[in-house]
Amino acid sequence: MSFTLAIVGRPNVGKSTLFNRLVGRRLALVDDQPGVTRDLREGDARLADLRFTVIDTAGLEEATDDSLQGRMRRLTERAVEMADVSLFLIDGRAGVTAADQMFADILRRGGKPVVLGVNKAEGKAGEEGVLEAYGLGLGEPLRLSAEHGEGMDDLYRVLQPLADAFAERTAQDAPETDVALSEEEAEVGDEAAAPKPTRAKPLQIAVIGRPNAGKSTLINRILGEDRLLTGPEAGITRDAISVTTDWAGTPIRIFDTAGMRKKAKVTDKVEKLSVSDGLRAVRFAEVVVVLLDVEIPFEQQDLRIADFAETEGRAVVIAVNKWDLEEDKQDKLRELKERFEYALPQLRGAPLVTVSAKTGRGLDRLHGAILKAYDVWNRRVTTAKLNQWLGAMTEAHPPPAPGGRRIKLRYMTQVKTRPPGFVVMCSHPDLMPESYRRYLVNGLRDSFDMPGTPIRLTLRSQA
Ligand code: GDP
Ligand code: GDP
Repeated sequence: MSFTLAIVGRPNVGKSTLFNRLVGRRLALVDDQPGVTRDLREGDARLADLRFTVIDTAGLEEATDDSLQGRMRRLTERAVEMADVSLFLIDGRAGVTAADQMFADILRRGGKPVVLGVNKAEGKAGEEGVLEAYGLGLGEPLRLSAEHGEGMDDLYRVLQPLADAFAERTAQDAPETDVALSEEEAEVGDEAAAPKPTRAKPLQIAVIGRPNAGKSTLINRILGEDRLLTGPEAGITRDAISVTTDWAGTPIRIFDTAGMRKKAKVTDKVEKLSVSDGLRAVRFAEVVVVLLDVEIPFEQQDLRIADFAETEGRAVVIAVNKWDLEEDKQDKLRELKERFEYALPQLRGAPLVTVSAKTGRGLDRLHGAILKAYDVWNRRVTTAKLNQWLGAMTEAHPPPAPGGRRIKLRYMTQVKTRPPGFVVMCSHPDLMPESYRRYLVNGLRDSFDMPGTPIRLTLRSQA
């Protein structure tokens, strides 16, 4: 666990620029064009040898509208609350403004460490701003240039002791069970002793689907607050972001690839980034929720995403949204299930739940399905049970003998989880027909209650 830094300040002071510099990937998007990006975003930051989480707060357009200002204030308060340290940025060229004073008040009340940064201070610029900044009463200001990377050594110098203090504190507080099971650790053989993976980290969820499927509406429902800003106001959009929250008692980190296309004034840049963000979201996630629109389900685009999630070995839940629009629910459900089995055989039995993001109906079912999928994804079957099962399976249907050479299945063990992976030792693995492998994989799903999760089955030679 490392600490979390929130970058706060009024619009246009350079928060996203600094965020991008710290995160080093284009997780956030900076643009002079109004209406691009703007929300709470999280990323994994690096500064020399420091590793921490960074939150970039709402950079709403300079708003004269009261409701927007109120939202921005709430989002800032929220970020400060989530963070261990805040980095308050002002624009050194503009000097201290009334809005800056408002942020300073929020931060002082927050009672947490605040680092004050005067940005756009490359070269000689911003000298006056630095002097003014002392007047905010938040300690010595750092001279920064997010764009040119100046002042990063000073930033390191002030964050480093805070990071140490935080590491010390969490080491003392950490309960003994608070360990995440890494993939390697999970690969040990004796599953009887293997601990259940504990959720030291929030469960990572991505909601993906075609534009207009209702992703933002769903995520807003789950978050239960206006952390993602959807709404009629022009110019409120966001790109891929993740937020951490508590969903019915489950800590989750949810990654959203927003339906930007319709909301942003679309530029090529935005379009390209949002597509690769979809793929990144899948890689980020432990459980991928494929959100379908009940009116146009299983479109090519949906199938591609679901297939990509399978290939990447993620647990998948299919959620059919806008269920409130459906009149003949029984028939529709039957039809959907049929089409699903046919369209995505590789995800056979994956949970399919119906929801209405708009009314909130079915959200508890979705929550349950996600937890179950996560559980299955982590499931471990004992070697004893597997071999007993393998015996029964080969007895019911002996493996074929292509060209007279019988394939002997000798022994089987689970070598990994997340997703579950198995190795079968056998003779002539290269001769094994695909149909028999499918028989085994589907059998594993049914016998050990592992629906929907990608299952990896490797055949290895042992004469
Ligand atoms: P945000 O609204 O606070 O997230 O601000 P952005 O990161 O979007 O930056 C707003 C504008 O300030 C952009 O045009 C940036 O290129 C510019 N900017 C950011 N950092 C610096 C800096 O260090 N120096 C200068 N001169 N411009 C900067
Ligand atoms: P996104 O592009 O996937 O983020 O989709 P949005 O969340 O922006 O939703 C697109 C449209 O579908 C909006 O007009 C929503 O109000 C509407 N919508 C979302 N969820 C539901 C739902 O459960 N039922 C109905 N009837 N409409 C919905």
